[in-house]
Amino acid sequence: MTEIITIPCLADNYAFLLHSNGTTALIDAPEAAPILAVLKEKGWTLDMVLLTHHHWDHIDGLPDLLKEASPQIVGAAKDTHRLPKLDIALNEGDEITVGDLTGRIIDVSGHTVNHIAFAFPGAVFTGDSLFALGCGRVFEGSMEMMHKSLQKLAALPPDTMVYSGHEYTFGSAKFSLTVEPENQALQVRVKDVERLRAEGLPTVPALLSLELATNPFLRAPSAAAFAKIRTAKDNF
Ligand code: ZN
Ligand code: FE
Repeated sequence: MTEIITIPCLADNYAFLLHSNGTTALIDAPEAAPILAVLKEKGWTLDMVLLTHHHWDHIDGLPDLLKEASPQIVGAAKDTHRLPKLDIALNEGDEITVGDLTGRIIDVSGHTVNHIAFAFPGAVFTGDSLFALGCGRVFEGSMEMMHKSLQKLAALPPDTMVYSGHEYTFGSAKFSLTVEPENQALQVRVKDVERLRAEGLPTVPALLSLELATNPFLRAPSAAAFAKIRTAKDNF
């Protein structure tokens, strides 16, 4: 049996615990305390930590986690110079097994170069590449690179759940409406997002099919169109 738990961390980060057949993997480590609390409550041992990228708000919880457990640290082979010390270094197309699940590494460079996503059957962990109704800022890569990365995620099975690294959806929803004001699926979704956030509930994860219908960054038909939308969001 597979279980995935969403753990709010810091101001607006999410970490996730993926548990399958007695094995537990953490995706990103923003801060240790809330993650350790869930592990304790569940009685799970932390076996692996899968890192999406090197930014502090995705790795800074690691030292305190390592005081309590001895997980294998997994990340991008091409980013070992600035990631915590890795036990398993992976490239695009490589596989990683957690219990009964085998995930595939997708290079989703753009927010950072060598940012990776972990695509398991039915669940993709996207870090700061694809967000609900949004995408990460393009800090290191090019707009072309980020567009290509998002298109790789768009090609996953539409019934995949997207587990992204931040709760940015409310702001992204407001912006998305300025790009596609006539999109009825988007209008309905923005209402749902407003209701969830008013109740203090997470909007993550979200179905990829819903992103495909409503996320203007994912729907951009070309790198040039994507660049225009991304630049407008940076100035929104
Ligand atoms: Zn980041
Ligand atoms: Fe982040």
